[in-house]
Amino acid sequence: METTGEVVPAMNSRQRVLAALRREPVDRTPVCNPTSVATVELMDLVDAPFPDANRIPELMARLAATGHTELGFDSIMPVFTIIQESSALGCKIQWEQKDNWPTVKMREPIWQDVDEIRIPANLLTHQDTRCVIEAIKILRREFGNEVAVIGKTMGPWSLGYHCFGVEPFLLMSLDNPGRTKACLDRLKEVTIQFGLAQIEAGADALTLPDHATGDLVSGEYYARYLRELHIEFAERLPVPLILHICGKTVDRMEYIAQTGMAAFHYDSKNDPAESMRIVRNRISLVGNINNPETLFSKGPEQVRREVYRNLDAGVQLVGPECAIPLQTTIENLKEISKAVRDWHLERQ
Ligand SMILES: [Zn+2]
Repeated sequence: METTGEVVPAMNSRQRVLAALRREPVDRTPVCNPTSVATVELMDLVDAPFPDANRIPELMARLAATGHTELGFDSIMPVFTIIQESSALGCKIQWEQKDNWPTVKMREPIWQDVDEIRIPANLLTHQDTRCVIEAIKILRREFGNEVAVIGKTMGPWSLGYHCFGVEPFLLMSLDNPGRTKACLDRLKEVTIQFGLAQIEAGADALTLPDHATGDLVSGEYYARYLRELHIEFAERLPVPLILHICGKTVDRMEYIAQTGMAAFHYDSKNDPAESMRIVRNRISLVGNINNPETLFSKGPEQVRREVYRNLDAGVQLVGPECAIPLQTTIENLKEISKAVRDWHLERQ
């Protein structure tokens, strides 16, 4: 990533993130969270608790800003949940309290077949999508061009789970590939519309989670159902896109690298060096710091070890592998940016 011998002038956080997403030289590796770093501790610190911080723009922006102001990340990502647009589509939401994520009640699916898919007229004016759009505007105003503001728009595979239920959607993908593709084709317009609205509001980049996760579907499935769609997103959404898929994904990284997306947000189940070899500089990698074991239950030393493993492999942006557990300590999260700075100092 960094051209040897070339001294890169100091950058601000936003420049650093955007350069790394383009695989251009950076003054140091950016610390970036394509998904949520909200925690209960941070909610208390700025008095912006769940579930309100997912529904009221001022609270959403205030909680998101702590990722930069408290944790030292180079990015701010206000979309903590995966349910904002699903709520606007009509899915029933379990909102929970501050110590728990809101979820879609997937046992009460809203659609059974492709003909029932309707994108409501208020997709972008519904409280839960508008909250995201307004929060991005607030953050853009507050942080100017200093920090990368990252939005998020869910991919059609994830929306399929929410609107049809996970099991019915997976069964349909086995029984009827044609109908499944027709569903994805309709749902992709939600991804595009919500994404474009966030870009217009000031988002520098968009995370695009599409949960074709390693444990539920195969790499061959990714190639059959999603590769073309993801290429289309990269063409139609005019900012760097960060694809997010959890789990072991080395079997589909070759396909992912062909999509034209800027980055792949990858899970700790994948080895950094092996992953870098597969993607061969066609897409940046970001993430990989383990959530449930390392960030949640181990200490700063183990966090540092995982950060170094990514930097040693040449991974372009470092951060948690996915939305972090809400009970993660601030100490462990701060260690990520400390470790990145130290790694660079040690190599000067
Ligand atoms: Zn994930």
